[in-house]
Amino acid sequence: MIVIKTPEEIELMRESALIVSKTLGMLAREVQPGVTTLHLDKLAEEHIRDHGAEPGFLGLYDFPNTLCMSPNAQVVHGIPNNDVLMEGDIISIDCGALKNGFYGDHAYTFEVGEVAEDTKKLLEVTKQSLYEGIRQFKSGNRVGDVGYAIQKYTEDFGYGVVRELVGHGLGKVMHEDPEMPNYGKRGRGKKFTEGMVVAIEPMINLGTKDIKQLNDGWTILTKDGKPSAHFEHDVAIVNGKPELLSTFKYIDKALGIKTDAEDEFRNLK
Ligand code: MG
Ligand code: MG
Repeated sequence: MIVIKTPEEIELMRESALIVSKTLGMLAREVQPGVTTLHLDKLAEEHIRDHGAEPGFLGLYDFPNTLCMSPNAQVVHGIPNNDVLMEGDIISIDCGALKNGFYGDHAYTFEVGEVAEDTKKLLEVTKQSLYEGIRQFKSGNRVGDVGYAIQKYTEDFGYGVVRELVGHGLGKVMHEDPEMPNYGKRGRGKKFTEGMVVAIEPMINLGTKDIKQLNDGWTILTKDGKPSAHFEHDVAIVNGKPELLSTFKYIDKALGIKTDAEDEFRNLK
């Protein structure tokens, strides 16, 4: 069942999403060679609590930490540990926050120092595919329109689109209906309407789309050991159009990135 949100609820969800955005912005300055993912996890937990929210992932389905930290060939759901980040790594950081009964949930893949050209390109294309998907999240369109846009954009670069893990509706529950695959057929699937809120999150592999899971019961990684990228935004439909609730602007500021990529999805603010 798809839970439609009122305009007031959407503003509460924006609050939760922005706490995650600010947390990722804080982490952007901390992601450096030599730092452990567990250290970053502790910083994130403190930051979220300082903003009057609860970590959204901690304890959810018994997940043990605040952040999902997935370096290099890990796709998603990596568990923070005492391994240090190294020059040339990439690291997907997925973060959730719960405030006023609503979840925020979004993710960014960071470069650690200088990364290889083909990996840099994978990150750039995956981030752009997120916007290609968001553009299709509007009244009258369907789930397949978003998936098609992401799949088409990324497969044109020869990348693998993960099938087993998908985006999702978001609200008082972290994973609501509808499921939002990053692949699909235009005009197929559930129809989008005013007040829907979803997390769109392409998980794109440099090589094969195939994945495997570590025996920790969580960590998902690529079958061929090649890198994987993951970017995620929270989006509502307002006045029939996609309205971005989360933002990468804090990350952009920390990293000195200048972009207007989010502007077309900001109708209210
Ligand atoms: Mg997430
Ligand atoms: Mg998500």
